Amino acid sequence: MSFAEEIKRLADEFESKTPHEILEWALREYGDDIAMSCSFQTQSMPLLHMATRLKPDLRIFFLDTGYHFWETLTFREKIQHEWNLNVIDLRRDPRWDAFIRPIVRSLPLDDPNLCCYIHKVQPMQRAVNSVWVWISGIRRDQTQERAHAKILELQDDGLIKVNPLLNWTKADVNRYIAEHSLPTHPLLDKGYRSIGCAPCTVAVGASDSDRAGRWAGRGKTECGLHTDMFRQKDYIVIK
Ligand code: SF4
Repeated sequence: MSFAEEIKRLADEFESKTPHEILEWALREYGDDIAMSCSFQTQSMPLLHMATRLKPDLRIFFLDTGYHFWETLTFREKIQHEWNLNVIDLRRDPRWDAFIRPIVRSLPLDDPNLCCYIHKVQPMQRAVNSVWVWISGIRRDQTQERAHAKILELQDDGLIKVNPLLNWTKADVNRYIAEHSLPTHPLLDKGYRSIGCAPCTVAVGASDSDRAGRWAGRGKTECGLHTDMFRQKDYIVIK
């Protein structure tokens, strides 16, 4: 059986495993060659809690786009300090700076795909070059694209993406938060149930889906970290 076939077999087997069991497998097999991405919003807390209790020094990649709400940055600082986390900030390649500076306010609205590529996709592509395994907290119930994701995804460059929460629902997340008395993002109570960058996130109503406030009314539902944009390493090449 080839490695790709083995990953596919395990991905199928893991459909009936718990997130904790999937994390244990990844940490047992790949030890220090693992990093997890975290956006430090309320729904990120269960996986962050689970993973860092299994491996306290796990590398946590945080995309510091420069467009975050102040509340996100202070929440990230508080959790990092209180949980003693190994958080690594990922920022855009400085070679973009001369291009970005004159359009820094307008870019998220004028060209959100390019903005997400520069501030999220490319920094993450570079960061995961240092590991074999990238743990992500996406769930199938979040977007149409995520509904088709696999628990283990082998990329062409050998990177294994592990999505332990894929089969969890919003109710599972809320139950774990309540059971473990986990802290919540300060904007949750103001209607921000899914939080990205400030220019691209609005509060939502009780009957809206959690992600309805992300790029609302702009025909965009994903930043590109979990789509073909991420796998397409030459989306834009900086010389
Ligand atoms: S979410 Fe908005 S501000 Fe943040 S990187 Fe994407 S387009 Fe830019």
